[in-house]
Amino acid sequence: MRKKFVAGNWKMNLNASEAQSLAAELKAQFEVCENADTIDVAVCPPFVYLSSVAAALEGSTVELGAQDVYFEGNGAYTGEISVEMLKDVGCRYAIVGHSERRHVIGETNELINRKLHSALAGGLEPILCIGELLEEREKGQTEAVIERHLRKGLKGVGKEQMLNVTIAYEPVWAIGTGKTATPAQAQEAHEFTRKILADIFDEEVAQATRIQYGGSVKPSNAAELMSQPDVDGALVGGASLKTDDFMGIIKGGIPPQGDCSSCCRNCGK
Ligand code: PEP
Repeated sequence: MRKKFVAGNWKMNLNASEAQSLAAELKAQFEVCENADTIDVAVCPPFVYLSSVAAALEGSTVELGAQDVYFEGNGAYTGEISVEMLKDVGCRYAIVGHSERRHVIGETNELINRKLHSALAGGLEPILCIGELLEEREKGQTEAVIERHLRKGLKGVGKEQMLNVTIAYEPVWAIGTGKTATPAQAQEAHEFTRKILADIFDEEVAQATRIQYGGSVKPSNAAELMSQPDVDGALVGGASLKTDDFMGIIKGGIPPQGDCSSCCRNCGK
């Protein structure tokens, strides 16, 4: 069974003391959360706060991730951050291909693929974001976009390396808009994603790969989204900036313990 994985993408938000407090609060609340060992959790602060957040999370099972990474190891690449630097400050994960980097900064699938390879080669676990724009969904191109992002983003990746890759399906129309994909829409896209993974690699890789959903996830919809058979967690933007909201989402991803009659997390079962 795939262990659920919830990651918070803090984007370009917070100042130094807010970032430290958020991390410290999360550490404290996650420590006393029941069955915390049944879920993986990470936060991805802005680069400049990675070290202080790492210090605030010291001793916690909450992991650290970066919001991006560059593919070169070192040298004259002004403004960029390498895999080694991220490892050095305690990162385990790096988001690659976030829709804001694709559509605001203009990153291509080819660039994203280079970043992903570099992350894997250097021992970082990439979270590859994929997903369609609203106009693409309206034109019936959702599956074509998912397939293109997967085939190009994962080009040249080996089966063994896929053990360290997470996919985040994030329909762009649902990111930061308050508009969430319905659980059925998310499941449909995730099932299709797994089908393409089976075609690129094999069924074993497809079944083992974690696919997060991202797009206006909040405590009130997290459990139902994550109870879909192919939804293995969440990549969370806005709601990861408030400890109570993020903890509510994490709790929504913790598998129900015991029998359903004693638990109502609104998971739809
Ligand atoms: C994201 O940034 O990946 C995201 C899903 O944002 P939000 O949760 O705010 O929609």
